[in-house]
Amino acid sequence: MLFLFCLFLQTEPNLVQSLKNEALANQPTFNSLTELCRVAPKRLSGSAGAEIAVQWAKAEMKALGLENVRLEAVQVPHWERGPVEALRFQDAKLAETFPLPVTALGGSVGTNGPLTAQVIEVQSFEELQKKAALAKGKFIFFNRAFDNTLANPFEAYSGAVNQRSRGAIEAAKVGAIGAIVRSMTNRLDDYPHTGAMRYDENIPQIPSLAVSTLGAERLSHLLKRDPNLKLEMELSCQTFPDTTSYNVVGELKGSQFPEQILVVGGHLDAWDLAQGAHDDGAGVCQSMHALGLLKKTGFIPKRTLRVVCFMNEENGLRGGRGYYEQHLAEMDRHVLAMESDRGGFTPRGFGTDASGPVMEAFRQIVAELSEIGADHIELGHGGADIGPMAKSGVIQVGYIPDAQRYFDFHHAATDTIDGVNPRELELGTVAMAAFLYRAAGLENLPKNPVTHESE
Ligand SMILES: [Zn+2]
Repeated sequence: MLFLFCLFLQTEPNLVQSLKNEALANQPTFNSLTELCRVAPKRLSGSAGAEIAVQWAKAEMKALGLENVRLEAVQVPHWERGPVEALRFQDAKLAETFPLPVTALGGSVGTNGPLTAQVIEVQSFEELQKKAALAKGKFIFFNRAFDNTLANPFEAYSGAVNQRSRGAIEAAKVGAIGAIVRSMTNRLDDYPHTGAMRYDENIPQIPSLAVSTLGAERLSHLLKRDPNLKLEMELSCQTFPDTTSYNVVGELKGSQFPEQILVVGGHLDAWDLAQGAHDDGAGVCQSMHALGLLKKTGFIPKRTLRVVCFMNEENGLRGGRGYYEQHLAEMDRHVLAMESDRGGFTPRGFGTDASGPVMEAFRQIVAELSEIGADHIELGHGGADIGPMAKSGVIQVGYIPDAQRYFDFHHAATDTIDGVNPRELELGTVAMAAFLYRAAGLENLPKNPVTHESE
């Protein structure tokens, strides 16, 4: 008995211990992320930085010894912010005393010189409807804050983000000439947060920007004193023709069922205000190094692990959609997809759309991760880039780190490498690597029902 026990110890070193020791001793994910932030700090789709990031990711995968490393072309949008971004009170004294830090929302049209107008503040699209008769020729100021009573900041984000994504459409519908949106964050500070916004082809395109939360408070306060105050808005952003970019792909071949694929990824593109350290440099580096850690420690998975650094999650999702379309013929061999796109914070666990026996198997997998605090599992989804694969029944898994600080950094100038804790980041890689290794080794890993594959 004792002999068998020793034999077991000899032939099966502890998975989580081995991965953790390697990751925390050498910090491969953090070193990689530091390098990405240094060589391609600004990498919005279509930019020169995005192409540097693509070449960097390819070289990094090769350096890790991954197989079948390749670029897969996708057409992506190309929008540039431009040098002029301003919102100020028309009154010079007010403008000096009460600054309004702003940033254009991604995809916004420019103003073509300064626009001057009065402002209508609203908390919701319903309130805007009630004030529709007053809106013509004005700026609409969407000032609904995050609900800070919610424990999960992602729920607060969901409750506020339609102001950013649809604000310009709703404002233009009632004749407004510009949209001002309170930044999407729990914090009160003076960093504006950008993010994607949309237009409707049947509705005039008006410029749209985000103001810092403190700026929003100042503006709201002064509008209560004087509702007739005028603001000047100026943006020089513009959209260029679509351009070619790439998803970056590499593999760790499975030892027993190499034809069956588990995808893991994050998005390589990032907003241009900072370095995209948490969003989503952390996710792409964790995904690559999850495979790197397994290889280094000798844990070769039974099924193939394929890492994908997706392009263009932030303003188009062309990488996620393109991957799905280009690989439709082998979707039956894709069994699971995992995404890390919630920042490089302390691990908590995973969300998944799996059910029944697969969910039971996942529960047993995460139980092994209690030592690093990643033993939580909940019903949820995976991530935007892997989302299209759900149509083909590919099990979705989302890596979940602690969420409390994510929106301090999300899409703002604060998202730099100094905001990333190396140990928290590495433990996330360990959690992902261990989960993937165990899932790839499950005897039964049936997919979810296929919904509408051929769409
Ligand atoms: Zn992201």
